[in-house]
Amino acid sequence: MNFKEIISTTRNYNFHSHTQFCDGRAPMHTMAAAAVAAGMEHYGFTPHSPIPIASPCNMSAESVEEYFAESKRISADPALSGCRFYTGMEVDYLSPEWGPSHPYFAGLGLDYTIGSVHFIPSQSGEPVDIDGHFDSFSRRMREHFRGDIDYVVETFFGQSRAMIEAGGFDILGHFDKVGQNASYYAPGIEDGEHYRKLADELVDLIIARKLTIELNTKARNEHGRFFPAVRYLPRLIGAGITILVNSDAHHPDRITASRDEAFAILDTLKA
Ligand SMILES: [Zn+2]
Ligand SMILES: [Zn+2]
Repeated sequence: MNFKEIISTTRNYNFHSHTQFCDGRAPMHTMAAAAVAAGMEHYGFTPHSPIPIASPCNMSAESVEEYFAESKRISADPALSGCRFYTGMEVDYLSPEWGPSHPYFAGLGLDYTIGSVHFIPSQSGEPVDIDGHFDSFSRRMREHFRGDIDYVVETFFGQSRAMIEAGGFDILGHFDKVGQNASYYAPGIEDGEHYRKLADELVDLIIARKLTIELNTKARNEHGRFFPAVRYLPRLIGAGITILVNSDAHHPDRITASRDEAFAILDTLKA
């Protein structure tokens, strides 16, 4: 898909969204109808991919066929015309053995994939979810990460680098996602030299690989932040990186959440 071309013609797009196929809060058809009502012209479904470990947030491999079938029905529904729908997937990178570069994903016939890191290996090698609510995160810090937030941040960015090196995805998802929980756990950590260096190195890699990234608005309302944090945008914009404004909506009411503000920030920085 040529995202750069699409976003040069319209702002009425969202390429990151969830439904009942993973942890979204509404059926796919309801999300599609809400997208049309919101004036979307391009709307991508991106359920959390199947993964080879137990996870309540990820879709099962068994439901992938039904996901494709439902996507087809939505695209053919005359009540939903006016918007082009895409069958995408937000693919989790877990390890060199499982991530967007795995042949399984190329074989599905998806329109595109988002590559995202939500799980990182603990010091003992077990994949642990670092996304989600802070209360679960702080419990996992105790139970899985020995309270070592520097390890968590370092490993998150290390996994992100490994995913980029392996390739196989079209959009890099929320590349500093760990910043949210890390900052609740250790306020100010994102201003520290250690974190900044890791994040800046990832920005270097994004620029070197000319990746397409997103300005993810999901947490703006509740947590007052975008992914990536606005501080990383000037360098990315300066390097000509394609930046999509995506809401990562899990609910029909959130499809356009904080989009205007995100576009305004990009406009100001590009001016
Ligand atoms: Zn995600
Ligand atoms: Zn998502």
